[in-house]
Amino acid sequence: MARAYNFNPGPAALPLEVLRQAQEELTDYRGTGMSVMEISHRSKEYEAINDETQQLLHELLGVPGGYKTLFLQGGASTQFAMIPMNFLRPGKSAAYVHTGSWADKAYKEAKLFGEAVIAASSEASGFTRVPDFKDIRIPDNAAYVHITSNETIGGVQYKEFPDTGDVPLFADMSSDIMSRPFDVSRFGLIYAGAQKNIGPSGVTVVIIREDLLKDLPKDLPAMFRYGVHAENNSLYNTPPAFAVYMVNLVLKWIKAKGGLAEMEAYNRKKADLLYRAIDESGGFYRGVAAPEFRSHMNVTFRLRDAELEKLFAKESEEAGFVGLKGHRSVGGLRASIYNAVPLEACQALAGFMAEFARKHG
Ligand code: PMP
Repeated sequence: MARAYNFNPGPAALPLEVLRQAQEELTDYRGTGMSVMEISHRSKEYEAINDETQQLLHELLGVPGGYKTLFLQGGASTQFAMIPMNFLRPGKSAAYVHTGSWADKAYKEAKLFGEAVIAASSEASGFTRVPDFKDIRIPDNAAYVHITSNETIGGVQYKEFPDTGDVPLFADMSSDIMSRPFDVSRFGLIYAGAQKNIGPSGVTVVIIREDLLKDLPKDLPAMFRYGVHAENNSLYNTPPAFAVYMVNLVLKWIKAKGGLAEMEAYNRKKADLLYRAIDESGGFYRGVAAPEFRSHMNVTFRLRDAELEKLFAKESEEAGFVGLKGHRSVGGLRASIYNAVPLEACQALAGFMAEFARKHG
């Protein structure tokens, strides 16, 4: 069976083993005679999936006590709004660190609800880096500081996280959750759409410090209240059951591979390979991000002009590489190499890049 060299930015590659298991269980989940898509979300089978998936996330991430994990819908984009709806109340402000397209979207949504400010920005660098932490200005009345741990479009990634003192740190980790170990206790809230590193689209993981659930506004629609989802163990309404089941399988796959330290080592190997292909091309390829902030998930690069970039996109597609065109808002090229993208795909791409440079250099 042929599997594509899939460098899609999301939805993205899933582990073949996971797809095979889902296929095997598709029509008869564990003797129920039904697919996970067909069983009740109130059944003991789904409750087990729901609970086990939370446990796996906590185990793999090393989530300390006092945190609750939620499986929500509406994508990370809904979190852009739900966070300020719940936390940005009158008299409060919200501080956003501006690192590119996704941070900007989160900030703009917050502005709809109250006083959102840019605490620091890397705009002057063309969003090729993360701002110096010493430049982050947190207002006295800040309810939270929001960061985007990996800018999927720019290919810029935090290598460490800022210390925001008593002000809770909130992070959009959509494009690098489960790709490396980190200290969850530094964060008040973490959220991620599943469709890059942990599953299919349709479910958004939210990990929230439980003390933050106290005193949240009650005048919001139920679906927009973290408290409602937390009290109901993510079963307030019909959950995206099949997507959560897929996340469950992906997390088990990560665990079997050795966990997040192993994921990080593997992802680094893949990223190093591609950045080397860029750096050793004698200027034919140019990395977008400043070297110290290069993403290990989204490798962004340019060629000398848009024409040649178009040709690269076309020829790479003909050679069987999927998803290398950069985001339409910035152009250029991008290889998304999430957990499930195998090293062999990166080796093949590095080979293609060398050949393309030889031909067109
Ligand atoms: N944040 C980041 C960092 C992303 O990469 C994306 C999607 N590419 C989003 C948020 C939006 O996610 P969703 O499509 O799940 O709303």
